[in-house]
Amino acid sequence: MEKLIITLAPTGNVPTYELNPHSALKLDQIVEDVKKCKAAGASVVHLHVRDEGLLPTSSREEYKKLLEKLEDVDMIKQVSTGARGGENTIEWRGQMLDLEADMASLSTGSSNFPTSVNANEPKLIKGLAKKMLDNGLKPEIEVFDVSMINNAVYLMKKGYIKGPLHFNMVMNVPGSIKGTAKNLMFMVDSIPDGSTWSVSGIGNSQIKMITLAILLGGHVRTGLEDVLMYDNETYATNEMLVKRVVRIATELGREIATVEEARKILSLE
Ligand code: MG
Repeated sequence: MEKLIITLAPTGNVPTYELNPHSALKLDQIVEDVKKCKAAGASVVHLHVRDEGLLPTSSREEYKKLLEKLEDVDMIKQVSTGARGGENTIEWRGQMLDLEADMASLSTGSSNFPTSVNANEPKLIKGLAKKMLDNGLKPEIEVFDVSMINNAVYLMKKGYIKGPLHFNMVMNVPGSIKGTAKNLMFMVDSIPDGSTWSVSGIGNSQIKMITLAILLGGHVRTGLEDVLMYDNETYATNEMLVKRVVRIATELGREIATVEEARKILSLE
């Protein structure tokens, strides 16, 4: 089986210091966590930034500062074009796509978050995809529901995204697809041959989903963006979450990919 790519999602849009005191919201905290997690085995980092009030933003300026601080950290860097960082326009959500990153997240359909709409209209998806293509960023297709897979294949046929595709199955967001083994198997069966995939097990689906991904030959995303509690009573840290993935993978006989190996697996330059 291919070596396991571990993606760290250290920040996200949901975490606050109230929800988890170890949240990585400020730039220096993010950088510190990224370095610790790289040492623990993460090869990709999915980045989000916050504004002065520590609220989610798509600010190019903040992304630029963060990427500069991470310049000497050899990892695959992925910026987020998600829907919760402010205005819902191509210009706003795609403002960081000309920066020095390797990948960017791209949701290829709409669904619900717990308290808002994950709104991605066709024009916006195509606009963001085109900007990624023009800037040489590989999309990570964020799949919150099955229909988003079909739409990604359609976008590939129309030339908006290039294969081989990389999917991240976002399982168990309240309002989107539930994190069950059956659902994950169906989604993995639905992606085109030659694609790569990882899984984000949100909340209490985390251990089940990452274990299944490791067994099925997929890859794993973890971090405080996806899960705030380590168990019923312990606040997670990014490092604890990555180390747990490494332990489970090791027990199951799956080796961890280095950054260089991850680049090859993801067909990056
Ligand atoms: Mg994200």
